[in-house]
Amino acid sequence: MPEGIVSRILRLPGYGAYAWEADEVTGVLWLSIRQTTATPYSVCGGCGISVRDVHSWTERKLRDLPWGVWGVWRVWLRVEVHRVRCRRCGVRTERVPFVTGKAHSTTRLEAAVARDCEAAPVSRVARTWHVPPETARRMDKRVLRRWAAARPRKPLRSLGVDEISLGQRDKFLTVVSDLDRGEPIWAGLERKREPWTASSPRLCRRAGAGPCAPSVSTCGSRSRRASGPTCPTPASSTTSSMSCGM
Ligand SMILES: [Zn+2]
Repeated sequence: MPEGIVSRILRLPGYGAYAWEADEVTGVLWLSIRQTTATPYSVCGGCGISVRDVHSWTERKLRDLPWGVWGVWRVWLRVEVHRVRCRRCGVRTERVPFVTGKAHSTTRLEAAVARDCEAAPVSRVARTWHVPPETARRMDKRVLRRWAAARPRKPLRSLGVDEISLGQRDKFLTVVSDLDRGEPIWAGLERKREPWTASSPRLCRRAGAGPCAPSVSTCGSRSRRASGPTCPTPASSTTSSMSCGM
């Protein structure tokens, strides 16, 4: 198969395949890729500016989305990664656009695995994408961290505290939720206030003394509103809400 067709299937803008190798026994497709522009440049991993002064380079292996029906071909990329001389940062490793940090998988594969982890157990997702379960779990965590870091931060105005019955052994699970956003922000087996207020400065400020001291009510209207479609309340739970007069 010509390298031009391989590059079109690969669809990594600015990069193309110059060699490929298929292992029929293991079902692994190795693709060697590099930049296709006439005058390649690198992005400094420290400050993000374009640099053309290459200090050295090395080969990096990355797991990518599988090819073929039912993902019959597992794809690994061999990428030329440069160390560049940046006038601001000195010698730094370049930033590869389709990888996040030092991960061994492409960002698009991590996103696909994390999307499936929302609806299926990690073990099943790992089998689907031909990765070890621990690798799938790490991918999911990385995507969640990136999502959490990029989401807009809004002030916490009201808390909901649910106690969910777990049975004879563990008794109760305490779940603290942001009532305005309708999502849990802390969970634990402790029934006292100190563990979850100490776990987050944001919670501590809101639940502490002072002008923002919370008012507590049991099964109030605010709690029922927040326990809608996005935050179902189990039948065997008690609910209270705390609001901050801001
Ligand atoms: Zn730099």
